[in-house]
Amino acid sequence: MNIHEYQGKEIFRSMGVNVPNGSVAYTPEEAVKAAKELDSDVYVVKAQIHAGGRGKAGGVKIAKTLDEVKEYAKELLGKVLVTPQTGPEGKEVKRLLVEEGCDIQSEYYIGFVIDRATDSVVLMGSEEGGTEIEEVAAETPEKIFKEEIDPIVGLMPYQAKRLAFNINIPKESVNKAAKLMLSLYNVFVEKDASIIEINPLVTTGDGEVLALDAKVNFDGNALFRQKDVVELRDLDEEDPKEIQASKYDLSYVALDGNIGCMVNGAGLAMATMDTINHFGGEPANFLDVGGGATAEKVTEAFKIILGDEGVKGIFVNIFGGIMKCDIIAQGVVEAVENVGLEIPLVVRLEGTNVDEGKKILEESGLDITPATTMAEGAEKIIAAVGENK
Ligand code: ADP
Ligand code: MG
Repeated sequence: MNIHEYQGKEIFRSMGVNVPNGSVAYTPEEAVKAAKELDSDVYVVKAQIHAGGRGKAGGVKIAKTLDEVKEYAKELLGKVLVTPQTGPEGKEVKRLLVEEGCDIQSEYYIGFVIDRATDSVVLMGSEEGGTEIEEVAAETPEKIFKEEIDPIVGLMPYQAKRLAFNINIPKESVNKAAKLMLSLYNVFVEKDASIIEINPLVTTGDGEVLALDAKVNFDGNALFRQKDVVELRDLDEEDPKEIQASKYDLSYVALDGNIGCMVNGAGLAMATMDTINHFGGEPANFLDVGGGATAEKVTEAFKIILGDEGVKGIFVNIFGGIMKCDIIAQGVVEAVENVGLEIPLVVRLEGTNVDEGKKILEESGLDITPATTMAEGAEKIIAAVGENK
């Protein structure tokens, strides 16, 4: 789960991570009010969307007067901002962060990520702040430094200082930078984050070290114990189909292809997508209806898949284990009758009561193409979608 920069900064502030003063605004008037509360003569008006790259896209404005704050707020609110991270359709700005302008001396990058190779949280840093870290990794990998963190003892002060030295933070600011990293590690662990990126971390003219940007992602599997974090969810920033899916406990991720997939089990869903790709097709989504798929869930899954205008055919690939094939077949038939279907549907069932399941599909009188193997199913749906173009 993602949150906005201003929300990340509020968490940081409450946990001792140094950030500029500032607050959120939903209207130009609120923006001016937020600016008035700041003890500063330079204000920064920042578009709040769940994507980075705002600076280069015109989403970060420096204002010298309250009138300018108002002008920039008017300009940004309601604007669709397109950055390399939003996709071509962009994202509409509905909230702003108004914060103190900061006298930046140098910009750095630091980030905490989970490294599956070492089973640990890794602190990464680079002196190339302000640049995408992926770019630094590709072009000048020697400028990225890492500290592996032992989960028992946590980030050690010597590690934080070593990283600060490695990324060339000036000597007089190393202790402050290390303190910020240690507090940030606390946020990472306490809040069950999966990524925290500060790009840029800055040193200022008066020797301060501040997190000037905040990207925080949380581990979805830990949200049950992070009620405060769940409150910060902004549904405007999420795909409506994905929100609908989460209501029914379906794991759904929208993709760019045209073959809707309905599968039970994440592993089988991945294999199904791979198989479609292998035969030259493009999946429109990842969708795992779960082990205990009921007719209601199957119906919802159909609605979500059909809600995607790019879908030109559906491939249902279900293994009846805990759920039996006849129950699933019944669910598919009910869903099709319920939702109506004008595009090709290929169904492959395997597992317990498969013969009964196939019989239900056959006798339904609906236009369902059966398949025996996953490969056959993938080929059939690709062919059907090809003819339908
Ligand atoms: P994004 O990563 O989405 O482009 P950032 O928050 O990193 O947005 O801001 C982009 C750039 O704008 C920063 O690298 C920094 O140079 C400048 N900037 C952001 N906030 C401030 C601030 N409070 N004071 C001065 N400059 C800022
Ligand atoms: Mg940034």
